[in-house]
Amino acid sequence: MIHNTKRYFEKRLRKKTGAAIHDYRMIENGDKVIVAVSGGKDSIVLLKVLSDLQRAAPVSFEILPVHISTGFEKGFSCIAQWIEEVLHLDVMVIESGIAEILKEASDPDKSPCALCSRLRRGRLYSLASETGASSIALGHHMDDVVETFFLRCLFTGQIGAMAPSRYSNDGKNRVIRPLAYCTNDLVNTYFSFLDIEPIENTCVIRPDGKRDMIRKYIDMVEKDIPLLRYSVFAALGNVDMKSMCFKENTDANSH
Ligand code: SF4
Repeated sequence: MIHNTKRYFEKRLRKKTGAAIHDYRMIENGDKVIVAVSGGKDSIVLLKVLSDLQRAAPVSFEILPVHISTGFEKGFSCIAQWIEEVLHLDVMVIESGIAEILKEASDPDKSPCALCSRLRRGRLYSLASETGASSIALGHHMDDVVETFFLRCLFTGQIGAMAPSRYSNDGKNRVIRPLAYCTNDLVNTYFSFLDIEPIENTCVIRPDGKRDMIRKYIDMVEKDIPLLRYSVFAALGNVDMKSMCFKENTDANSH
């Protein structure tokens, strides 16, 4: 019974991930994909589903799992062992010293999270150029995209989210998010069938208060609008540019 339920969620996850990879042309024949494995549930599920798809996909691609160790994680060795034994992949662990850098460099009046994530991303970009990787896969899922949209809109006055596939600002690195069509619920449920514990993150900043607040609002509104996450995600790919409030948008003035 448990086996059948696991198969059901595995199939759903694979189908949605495969669809996102196809729709955004994330992976092509001969690609080498760095998979960022923080050791949280999302990144473990991402690596698992990509390695399953690798075996079944009509295209041939290489997976390079990478863990950027910040100094805040506890217990990654168990995850590395699981990756080796279950997925038959070696994970590269990079000691980044980020925890130390944050102590020295971050502004005490500001959250260090933006700097932390910039530093981690920087290490991944350097590694991509050293290894000749075609892209870097991150474990963000649909809930992350939708929450980011609300966060940016409500706290920074900007319309934007997290693109399922995009190039870095200098155009050198491609970041892909193959779980973009998967909800947090689906990822979490599937994770519960994998025989592994997520990493413990000892960073004192956790949890992210603003993101948690948005998450609670979305959960609340979802009771009245069950497809809320799907609608917002769809809207992010279906923008009526003429109705936006650009000052230089002369087209809009004619309607
Ligand atoms: S919560 Fe801690 S580990 Fe996470 S992004 Fe912020 S500073 Fe980095």
